[in-house]
Order: sequence, then C-alpha cells, then structure tokens
Amino acid sequence: MTNLILLGPPGAGKGTQARMLTESKGLLQLSTGDLLREAAARGTQAGKAAKQVMEAGNLVSDEIVIAIVNDRLDQPDVAVGVIFDGFPRTVVQAEALDKLLKDKVMKLDFVVSLEVQDAAMIERISGRYTCAGCGEGYHDIHKVPAKPNVCDNCGETEFRRRADDNAETVSERLMAYHAETSPLTAYYHDKGLLNRIDAMGDIGAIGAQLNELVDEASK
Ligand code: AMP
Repeated sequence: MTNLILLGPPGAGKGTQARMLTESKGLLQLSTGDLLREAAARGTQAGKAAKQVMEAGNLVSDEIVIAIVNDRLDQPDVAVGVIFDGFPRTVVQAEALDKLLKDKVMKLDFVVSLEVQDAAMIERISGRYTCAGCGEGYHDIHKVPAKPNVCDNCGETEFRRRADDNAETVSERLMAYHAETSPLTAYYHDKGLLNRIDAMGDIGAIGAQLNELVDEASK
C-alpha cells in the first residue's frame, strides 16, 4: 500500500491524475475539496461555513479540514493506500498530517509537485466541467465529449460546473496557493520526499510518470 500527496495549484491536474491512479493502481483518492463540497451539499454546520469560504476562493480553516481528514482516515478502505488530493494546503496541515499518520500507523511514501504555469491555469479551470454520473472531466476547448452533451465514459447527459471555477475566484485560489501552499514543496523536499513533475504536457505522459513512482515505492 502506497500513500502519496499530489501538490499543485488549482488546475494543475491533481484530481485528474488522482482518478487515473485510482484506476491503474487501486489507490483511494482523498480529496478534501470533494469532502468539503459534500459537507456543503448536506448542509452540515461545518459545510455551510466552508461553502462561503470556498466560493470566495479562500482556504477553509485548518481546524475543519484536519478534522475531516482525521475522520476519513479512520475508515477501513484507506488500507489500500491513499492519494491525498488538495491536502495538505498549509504548513499547519502538513504538520497535522505527519501526526495523524503516525497515530494511525500509516506512512507517507512520497510527494509529487505538479509544476505548471499560472497563466494557463485560469483558462484551464474556467472551461472545465465534469460528468454528473461518473465524474469524468471535460473542458470547453481542450476536451469535449465525442457526442455533444453525452459522457464518453458512461453515457450520462448531465454535467456539472463547480461554483468556484470562475475567473475571479480562480485568481483568489491561485493567490492562496502561492501564499499558503507553495511552501510545502520546501517542507517535503527537506524530508527527502519531493518529486517534481512538469504538468504542462500530455495527461497520459504525466500519468505514466506517476505510475512509475508508485511502482518504485511499492517495491
Ligand atoms: P479543490 O477541490 O481541491 O480545488 O478545493 C476547492 C476549495 O475547497 C478550495 O479553494 C478551498 O476553499 C477548499 N479546500 C479544499 N481543500 C482544502 C484544504 N486542504 N485546506 C483549506 N481549504 C481547502
């Protein structure tokens, strides 16, 4: 079982790559963004508070996010290995994760930083949407379904756009990334766990590099 973190700004492809790794290696995708959106949709107190913060493009409090991850890591399905997608996003969260993993007798195998150029991220994110049925990702320009409005993967005809995938919110999210999350590359570099991958290129080629890292870690 391999546990890894995908680091990178919004739009770098963390979710896409996590989904691909789930398929190829059977690992579990733990996306704090997804867990927070689910909490917001359920209307829990933490979910309601988080919703406003997310729609403004800011980071949800460390306390809420760490509590959510702590609960999720108590589910037995994490035993297959976890891809942390969108967590940690601050040094406080990274330190909390170290402690959580230690308490739960789990180990972090490696960290990948998906390296991209900011300028491309706004365009990538503003055009993206997903299938409401299976979650497959699409883009207005770069990846439209073969048959208009029908998911290539599952045939679903309903699609979703995230409320925070608009140009203004994306700029806020990028700023939050540079201020709060980018120091994590140094944090994990110092621990000897960091791998950098150029994530501007072909999705499949990036996926192949990630598969290799997982293979290497599970030897
Ligand atoms: P994502 O789906 O990873 O792009 O996350 C969407 C939004 O959820 C972010 O812009 C934040 O508002 C919030 N969020 C997700 N993960 C975290 C985290 N680890 N720490 C703080 N806020 C988060």
